[in-house]
Amino acid sequence: MIRQLEENRQRANSALDSTHRAARSFWRLMLGTSCIGVVCHSSFVLLFYLNGVTGLALVNVGSVSLYATSAFLLTRGLAPWIAFSFVIFEVLAHAMLASYWVGWETGFYFYAILAIPVLIVADFQRLPTKILSVTGATIFVIAMDVLVRSRAPIHALPEHVVDGLHYFNLTAALSILIFMVGNYFWLIKRAESQLHLLATTDSLTSLLNRRSMVDAWRFEKERQESTGASLALILCDIDHFKQINDTHGHDVGDRVLQTVSETLAANLRETDHLARWGGEEFIIMLVGATLDTAVRIAEDLRAAVADTVIETDLLKGNEPLSVTATFGVSAMPSDLSESLEAAVARADAALYNGKRSGRNCVSRHDQQDARDMVKDAFV
Ligand code: GH3
Ligand code: MG
Ligand code: MG
Repeated sequence: MIRQLEENRQRANSALDSTHRAARSFWRLMLGTSCIGVVCHSSFVLLFYLNGVTGLALVNVGSVSLYATSAFLLTRGLAPWIAFSFVIFEVLAHAMLASYWVGWETGFYFYAILAIPVLIVADFQRLPTKILSVTGATIFVIAMDVLVRSRAPIHALPEHVVDGLHYFNLTAALSILIFMVGNYFWLIKRAESQLHLLATTDSLTSLLNRRSMVDAWRFEKERQESTGASLALILCDIDHFKQINDTHGHDVGDRVLQTVSETLAANLRETDHLARWGGEEFIIMLVGATLDTAVRIAEDLRAAVADTVIETDLLKGNEPLSVTATFGVSAMPSDLSESLEAAVARADAALYNGKRSGRNCVSRHDQQDARDMVKDAFV
């Protein structure tokens, strides 16, 4: 089961990073846009100059400078919101001027439409600013349509140039859209699975948490109805743990919890369920194990915990630290209809007996006692 634990740990670490990932991804998108902006608008300078549209060629020289400044600011991490404002301003202004100059058919207005989703996903903007900027850009696009679409261009380009520009702009705008939506879809999917992981695992040990164990119980209980396999519970409680905290500090206590988790995981099968039940208590659900088998497994776990040397540079001096734990076991044969709470209470009663009889031992709660308890509950 240790592989599962390692995977959970890695995924939890990357989950903590996911909030920054969306922001980083946005600025990467802006930097990419600025670099592509420099290249495309340099080509437009040449194209418009060669076709005699000198005014628009000069506008594009301005665009190249804006994109280059924006790329410079973004690579240096300087005032990224200024870089962002430059990009949005350029896109809107260029769309308007180019449509006005060489005609609506060239398709430069596609980029102005694209500015709206970009403004929505810009997550550094506060909500009022975002609402204002998105409304402004929407009004701008509609106004541009009303004012420019039906006007004849100032400079009529040859038909093949207009067609070429139209399809180039359409393809570029669609590619940006696909990239942007795809990127955000991927980020959402990733965040979704990482949130699920954070909600179902314990952050200190990367084991399942109590809620996940309840879910696992429901799942296994349903399966038990068709397979008839026995289920068993083991409660494990570290002995004198408070003393470890008091003597060595809370950080060493945390390290002990992590090491014991690893030891337990390393000695269980992938099909078993291991969770942190609370504090220094762990719970294990064994699938297809009778009480005798569970007691044998608990005995192996007890020996493994007692044999584990806790390595940590947090310890003062070089004294090796080791701990012991006490185990309480209860089994739930398929013919015993019992809630998880009741089965845990029986394992807990066994654990209590183990603590009373000196700790570092395995104590069992017999099935016959369980049947009596279930019967008693109905009389
Ligand atoms: P016993 O042998 O009877 O089980 O005694 P114990 O000292 O292990 O049990 P007790 O219930 O008295 O103390 C449990 C301690 O576990 C108290 C609490 O501060 C500590 N603890 C609970 N959660 C954490 C944690 O996440 N990290 C650390 N370092 N300590 C914790
Ligand atoms: Mg305890
Ligand atoms: Mg304890």
